[in-house]
Amino acid sequence: MDDTPTVIRVSGALVEAEPLSASLNELVFVGRSRLWGEVVRQNGLRATVQVYEDTNGLASGEPVVATGTPLLAELGPGLLGRILDGVGRPLVEVAKTSGTFIAPGCTAPTLNPRARWHFSPSLQPGTPVEGGDVLGTVRENGLEHRIMVPPGLAGILDWVGSGAFTVAEPVARLTDGRPLFLAQRWPLRLPRPVAQRLPTERPLLTGQRVFDLLFPVAEGGTCVVPGGFGTGKTVIEQSLAKFADADVVVFVGCGERGNEMTELLHEFPRLVDPRTGRPVMERSVLVVNTSNMPVVAREASIYLGMTIAEYYRDMGQRVALMIDSTSRWAEALRELGSRLQELPGEEGYPTYLSGRLGQFLERAGRARTCGRPERQGSVTVIAAVSPPGGDFSEPVTQAALRVAGALWALDPSLAQRRHFPAVDWRASYTLYADAVRDWMASAGSSDWFEVRAALFQTLEREAELRDIAALVGPESLDDRDRLTLAVAAAIREHVLRQNVFDPNDAMSPLGKTLALARAALAMRSTASQALDAGMALADIELDAAFRALAALQSSPASQVDELAAAAMAAARAVTGQPRSRTR
Ligand code: ADP
Ligand code: MG
Repeated sequence: MDDTPTVIRVSGALVEAEPLSASLNELVFVGRSRLWGEVVRQNGLRATVQVYEDTNGLASGEPVVATGTPLLAELGPGLLGRILDGVGRPLVEVAKTSGTFIAPGCTAPTLNPRARWHFSPSLQPGTPVEGGDVLGTVRENGLEHRIMVPPGLAGILDWVGSGAFTVAEPVARLTDGRPLFLAQRWPLRLPRPVAQRLPTERPLLTGQRVFDLLFPVAEGGTCVVPGGFGTGKTVIEQSLAKFADADVVVFVGCGERGNEMTELLHEFPRLVDPRTGRPVMERSVLVVNTSNMPVVAREASIYLGMTIAEYYRDMGQRVALMIDSTSRWAEALRELGSRLQELPGEEGYPTYLSGRLGQFLERAGRARTCGRPERQGSVTVIAAVSPPGGDFSEPVTQAALRVAGALWALDPSLAQRRHFPAVDWRASYTLYADAVRDWMASAGSSDWFEVRAALFQTLEREAELRDIAALVGPESLDDRDRLTLAVAAAIREHVLRQNVFDPNDAMSPLGKTLALARAALAMRSTASQALDAGMALADIELDAAFRALAALQSSPASQVDELAAAAMAAARAVTGQPRSRTR
C-alpha cells in the first residue's frame, strides 16, 4: 500500500487527507497546485485540513504534503508598506498590474528576498546574547528597524557582519555555528513573549475629538467599535490608521462590501500623513482578505496582523492594530465549526468563540520587551464589529465586550442625521479615563478630566430636558434649561461632530480639541452667571459665540491658536460685555 498522503474528501474549504499524521495547526500543501492549508483535526491517520484557497477543481487522490511547521509569519525589514493576504503573501504588485490576485498555491515570500538593507551592528563578537537582544539596526522608511535575536535563541556571538544584506543572508553567527538573519519567523497563533507586562498609562491619541475627549483608549488597550451597516466603522478605522499617534499601524481588512477591499488597496497607498507630509503607507502594513479567497482564510488574517504588531512592539514601537471587521473573522470560525460538525453555540457560532476572541484581544498591551537594551512597546487594538441588524446583544459584540477596555458604540440614528462620528455617548464607555488622566495633565491638558466631566454633565442634562420637554411640552423649560440645550447643541455640533471630508477638520490635535470644548463650556458658564444676576436668556447673544466655534472647528492648523482665543473671547462676551480683541 502506498503511504503517500492524499486527498480523500473535499468539502468546501475543508479537506480530509490520509494517511497523514500531523500536528494541530501544521501547515500543509494540498493537491497538485499546492494550496495552503492548516491541520485543524487529527483522527488516527486521517487529518482534516482547513484550506485557505479556493478548492474548486481539487480532487480525491491528489497529494498532500505536510511541512512540519505551523503557519509562520515572516518578520523583518520591508514589512512596512507591504500589502499582504491573510497568510502573508504580498499582493500589491499583482493587484496593481493586472487587478487579479495571487494564483492558488503561490508561495511568494512576505519579504522581498532581493532587497538589500544596510545593517549597522551594535554588538561585538564574544557577546552573549538571548532572545530579544538588539543585534543592530536597519533603516526602514523613517523607522529604526531593530534586528533582534529571535525569541528562545541564546548563545555567544562569534561573528557580526556590517553592510548590505538581503533577508536571506546571515548577518551574524553564534559560536555553535547557528546563523542569525535580518528576518525571523514566528507562528501566527502564538503570542510573542515579553519580559513584563506594564500597566497602561497614556492615551493613544486618535485625532478624533469624541474619542480623545470622552472615550480615550489607552496605549496597549483594546477598543471595540460595534455598529450596523453604514454607521461609519470603516471611516473610523481608516481615520485612525491615518491620524492616530502610533509609530506603526497594522490594518487588517475583512470587508463587508465586495469592492471595499479594492477601494482600500487603491486609496490607502495614496494617503498622506498631514503631520509629516509622508505617505501613511510608509508606517503601515495592510493585511487584506481578497474576495477570491474562501471565508476561512480570514480566520488566519487577524493572527497575522497581531504577530506583525507584536514584532514591532518588541522593537520598542507603539503599534496600533485596526481590524475591520472582527465579525468577518467570527463568521469564518462559524463556517469552519459547522463544517467540522461541532456542536454549535449561540446563533451557530462555536462555543469557543468568546474564549478565542478573548485570547486574541489579550495579546494587546504595553510591555517591557525581552532583551537588551531595555525598551517598552505597545499594541493597541481597535476592533470594529458588525452586529447583524445593529443588535449589540449578538454573540460577537458580547464576546468582544467581555475583554475590551473601551466601547465606541455607533448609533444608526446619528448616522442617519449625518452626525459623524456616530458615537452614542450614552452607550459608549472607557475604562481608561483614570489611567490616562496624569498623562493628559502632563501633556498640557491639566483640565482634561474636568472638561470631560462637564461635557458629560451637559449632555446628560440635555437628554433629561428633552425627555421632560417631550412629556410636558417645551414651555415647561426655563431659561436655564434652554441655555443648557443651546450649549449642548453647540457641543454636539462643533465639538463632537467631525467631518472626514473637511481637510481642516479630519484630524483634530488635542490642543484644538480642548480649545473647542473649553469655549463651549465657557459660553455656558458666562451665560449662566448672567442668568443668576437676573438677565433674561433673550438678552444673551449666543450666535457670535456659535460662529466663533464653527470657525475654530474648521480652522487650518496655522490659525488654531488665534481662532481658539477668538472663540474663548466670544464665549465670554455673550452677555454683551466688550469683547477682548486678540489681534
Ligand atoms: P460602515 O463601515 O459602518 O458600514 P462606513 O465607514 O463605510 O460605514 O461609513 C458610511 C458612510 O458614512 C461613509 O461613506 C461616509 O459617507 C459617511 N461617514 C462616516 N463617517 C464620517 C465622518 N466622520 N464624516 C463624514 N462622513 C462620514
Ligand atoms: Mg465598513
